[in-house]
Amino acid sequence: MFLKCLDIVGFKSFADKTHIDFADGITSLLGPNGCGKSNIVDSIKWVLGEQSTKTLRAGRMEDVIFNGTDKRKPLQYAEVALTIDNSERNLPTDLTEVEIKRRVFRSGESEYYINKNRCLLKNIRELFFDTGVGKSAYSILEQGKIDQILSQRPEDRRYIFEEAAGISRFKMECNEASKKIERTDENINQAESLMKVEK
Ligand code: ATP
Repeated sequence: MFLKCLDIVGFKSFADKTHIDFADGITSLLGPNGCGKSNIVDSIKWVLGEQSTKTLRAGRMEDVIFNGTDKRKPLQYAEVALTIDNSERNLPTDLTEVEIKRRVFRSGESEYYINKNRCLLKNIRELFFDTGVGKSAYSILEQGKIDQILSQRPEDRRYIFEEAAGISRFKMECNEASKKIERTDENINQAESLMKVEK
């Protein structure tokens, strides 16, 4: 699986529609300080579902929208689309190419799409479970991240191994099932209390 291309509009410093093709092999981003190299990495994290404004180097989520310059008005929304080659079927879908897209408006409203079909953030996260790609996965190793991986708490480090071993999906499903059982138990207790009152 590799990233094929990235389309950005209105995300941080990228006011104009920007298309980046990633060739097979290694792609390097070069440019002077402040030209937007890290913003490209931020846009990939964002489209993969990152919700932490700190990780995105923004104060509020709205700050990822192009906020204007002396010569240009701020934009009203930011949009990032990432196209992934899935010919090896690493993603759990039969499609050879998968496009995920995220859009956010100044109102705070967010939209998510998989291959142009509106979906939930949860669906995007599920698509990438156990692939090593995803908001908390190990596919993006920034400056200092290797030190962090080596020195962070053992529980956090285990998360990386669980993702690589392919069990994150099952853990998530297990957590969801536990929550459902809890809710069902609560409902049963409530129903039993009502039945007692009626007797
Ligand atoms: P360095 O080499 O110093 O790490 P860089 O190329 O990685 O720099 P970035 O951090 O990606 O640069 O980009 C910083 C630029 O992005 C700054 O000029 C900042 O003003 C601009 N920027 C960030 N958010 C927005 C926004 N919402 N609207 C417009 N510009 C923004």
